[in-house]
Amino acid sequence: MVHLEHFSEHPLDYINEFHTTERVRIDSCPHCFTRRRLHLHGIYHRHVIWHEDVFSIPVQRHYCIHCGKTVSILPSFCHSGFQLALPFLLELLWAFFNMIPSPNTLAHQHRHFISRRFLLCMNRLIEYFRICEDPLIVFPDFWHEKAIKLLEMVYSVGKPHIFAKRYYDHFKKGFMAL
Ligand SMILES: [Zn+2]
Repeated sequence: MVHLEHFSEHPLDYINEFHTTERVRIDSCPHCFTRRRLHLHGIYHRHVIWHEDVFSIPVQRHYCIHCGKTVSILPSFCHSGFQLALPFLLELLWAFFNMIPSPNTLAHQHRHFISRRFLLCMNRLIEYFRICEDPLIVFPDFWHEKAIKLLEMVYSVGKPHIFAKRYYDHFKKGFMAL
């Protein structure tokens, strides 16, 4: 399981500050709900694609001695299960639905995959905005216009990671998770 936390907004700052920043602690297990602080349980690395750059970032893992499961603290510029950093991922979605040409083949491949995924996740996004912002919001019927309106609403929350963490804390899964 993943827990999102706000750190620096850029992977390079996150990497530089990782070893000097005080560790986030988890005081109750999200798996078994025991109220015993989870143990720090090593660090692993994951890739983050940030526009043209790829970073390998350290991720702190925590371990519950009660149920034996782990929780990882991901910086909120990441989306669990995706290597694309959040600002880049949203930029690709925006470009796809607004029919802005891809700068290169890799971006083209990424955005086809994530756009299909985004379409599958739209109903839960609508639910989120109806619960958290306005129960009477009306969305266009056509999927393409609906996707653009949802992306506009995501951007209107502020910086992408603010929205992503709020969504994650609400549904306990990322806005692009199935
Ligand atoms: Zn547990």
